Amino acid sequence: MRTSACISDENLTLLYYGETEQLAPEISTHLGSCYDCRQRLNLLQTTLGKLPQLEDEACGATSTRIAAAVSERLQRKQRSWRPVWGGGLVTAASLLLALLIWRPSAQIDPIESAGTDYLALHAELTLLEDFELLTELELLQELEGI
Ligand SMILES: [Zn+2]
Repeated sequence: MRTSACISDENLTLLYYGETEQLAPEISTHLGSCYDCRQRLNLLQTTLGKLPQLEDEACGATSTRIAAAVSERLQRKQRSWRPVWGGGLVTAASLLLALLIWRPSAQIDPIESAGTDYLALHAELTLLEDFELLTELELLQELEGI
């Protein structure tokens, strides 16, 4: 039977949420000695366990897990393609350098002065700029943090 010493609904709710520090010590003692109050707490646990609010919390935990998995996968992806990208950048830069240095015209005409070479080089750089290749390389370098 429920007596005047029995735990109130408010205090049962506090017990359910584990906020026992707000309760008087005799309440826990009463719960241990009163079958009726233990039954009421069990009923409260069953009832509150079916509330949609708790399902939302479960969904929130799932979302957090999904977000964590996605970010982890993204980081792993970044790690995997970063060296490949860097290698591709080095290859592109090497090809560009080779093209600029081993220009057939420079080999055919060795009399050409250094000043003319510079102008030719500059013209080629301007041409590359027209193709926005250098801009892209600079962008890649910025992204790579080189
Ligand atoms: Zn009781």
